[in-house]
Parts: sequence; C-alpha cells; structure tokens
Amino acid sequence: MQKSTSKLTSQKEKILEIERQRKGLIKLLLSDCEVIEGSFIDVRVRCGRSGCHCENKPIHPVTRLSWWDNGKLKNKIIRVADRRWVKKLSDNYKKHRQAMRDLVKLNEEEKEIIKSVVKLKTRKYE
Ligand SMILES: [Zn+2]
Repeated sequence: MQKSTSKLTSQKEKILEIERQRKGLIKLLLSDCEVIEGSFIDVRVRCGRSGCHCENKPIHPVTRLSWWDNGKLKNKIIRVADRRWVKKLSDNYKKHRQAMRDLVKLNEEEKEIIKSVVKLKTRKYE
C-alpha cells in the first residue's frame, strides 16, 4: 500500500510538470506573435547578364523563402529590405511548428501516466 501511494504521488507530480510545460506551449501558440510559413534560405544565383563572373559559377547572394503548397515546393525571393522581419516571422513559424509537435508528445506522455495513475487507484472487488 505504502509503495503504491508514493508511486501515485510521483505520477501526479509528473502530470503537474506536463501541465506546466503545456501552459508554456499554449501561451506561445495563442500569442499575437505573427508567423510566415516557410524556410529562410540563402542561395547564390546567376544574374543572366552576359560577361558577368556568374556565368561560370552562381555568385549573387539571394535570400529565398520556400514552402510546400499542395505537395509542390514554392519559392519566393525576399527583398533585402524585408529580410529582417521575414526571417523573424519564419523563425517564429519554426517555433510554432516545434511547439505543436511538443504538445502532441506531451499529450501522449500524459495519457500514459494517467493510465498508470488510474491503474494504481484501481481496487479489486473480490
Ligand atoms: Zn551575374
């Protein structure tokens, strides 16, 4: 009896810890923080002008945003003036994606712990 009581307590503490983590994730996901879907990628391209060094090798730095749309990879070149804020919102998007994955993981973990808590509380009628 003693043993199962301390096990129960530690399982309950785990649940409380999960709830704390969940609260943090929900806070981010429901915040007013804007996001832009897609990855921020620096690439080098050819400009197409004849006689430019880039005829041999792409040398002109360009920043692209790329994202999947209905199974197709889409790209858009980001204007230099927009790089900073687009990068920030793209990073925010990554954080949101991660938070959603973490939330799913927490839910799974919690479900397992709750199952064991219920098992520990279960009495047999014999
Ligand atoms: Zn060039």
